[in-house]
Amino acid sequence: MIFSFFFFTSKTLILYMFSDGEFGICRNIRRESKRYINLNPIQRGGIIPKETIPILNEWLDGYSICDFCEGRLEDIKSPPIEKFVHDILPKFLDIDIVRLTNGAREAKFAVMHALCKSNDRILIDQNAHYSTFISAERLNLEIHEVPNSGYPEFKINPEDYAEKIEEVNPRLVLLTYPDGNYGNLPDARRVGKICSEYGIPLILNCAYSVGRMPISARKLNADFIIGSGHKSMASSGPIGILGIKGEWEDEILRKSKRYKNKEIEFLGCGPRGLPTVSLMASFPYVAKRVERWDKEVEKARYFIKKIEEIDGIRQLGEKPKNHDLIFIESSRFYEISKRHKKGRFFLYHELKKRGIIGIKPGLTKNFKMSTYQLKKNELNMVIDAFSEIANL
Ligand SMILES: *Cc1c(COP(=O)(O)O)cnc(C)c1O
Repeated sequence: MIFSFFFFTSKTLILYMFSDGEFGICRNIRRESKRYINLNPIQRGGIIPKETIPILNEWLDGYSICDFCEGRLEDIKSPPIEKFVHDILPKFLDIDIVRLTNGAREAKFAVMHALCKSNDRILIDQNAHYSTFISAERLNLEIHEVPNSGYPEFKINPEDYAEKIEEVNPRLVLLTYPDGNYGNLPDARRVGKICSEYGIPLILNCAYSVGRMPISARKLNADFIIGSGHKSMASSGPIGILGIKGEWEDEILRKSKRYKNKEIEFLGCGPRGLPTVSLMASFPYVAKRVERWDKEVEKARYFIKKIEEIDGIRQLGEKPKNHDLIFIESSRFYEISKRHKKGRFFLYHELKKRGIIGIKPGLTKNFKMSTYQLKKNELNMVIDAFSEIANL
């Protein structure tokens, strides 16, 4: 009885699988959210410009850029990855060497892995991204933090780096520029100066800045600079870029003994296919938009001014604001959530009704958003939505 039941079910299961069955669900993948205004800060800088789309369509297949590879992705001449990686990107970041990685976190990990050994100390800012902590954990590093100033600005004071370096004697230092919570832009140049005086290498994590604002590694005294293609360079990703100051070449670009042209820290090859193509195809657009960064800061400040006119809504983090990533504290929305029938999900629903998404469902009191590249009418729609909802 049990046997025949099993036989029956496994046979139907197999038939079911061959006739599409439960896997049919994979044919129904749609992105309904595309028609909304999206305020999610991690997404605003990764939107693909129209001119990139037809290029991407030609490179969708797996390993599509490997047709002309002679063993090193960065040396492929057509499409022009060689020029892009060895000439265009180093100029863009104002640094000697660039490598592509699978993301900002992989770039951080590669540097930590190349320079540190287990139980070494690393000094990072308290506002560092979770992936910084995890990269360090993966290597068993001892993590020390430069604390922020706390509520309401959460600023990092560059001089604290000198004090902490004396105290901790780290192998490596990292600063997040800006951080992914408050969008604060600390004085990276000063931190770079301090690190170079102590002779300790500095990683600048620019996941939220490279591709949005002009960044010069040389001016900021950074040994390593890290960007994220899908975060801030209008790329589908996943892809990261790592800028390396010449003096670290031997340590970071160590080659395999067995496969002479393969670099160990990058496991022999960078992002293969679409991620790299999307980064290159969008690059002319990115290089241009970086020049208009002032306008983006103006826009963020205008938005903050408008929503702070609403009682019980304020921006946290540094003032005045220097970046589009905005952290909001809203006792007003929180109060409404306590009596609204949708509870703490009311804000999400009310915004969605007005064509806006990107604020985490369930949050009302503290949330992050970005105004990056919103058009004037979109920005006004968001401001109007906030005022309407505040009056519910
Ligand atoms: C988003 C973000 C990252 C992670 O970027 P990936 O390219 O997805 O790895 C790292 N650091 C900061 C500060 C970020 O905001």
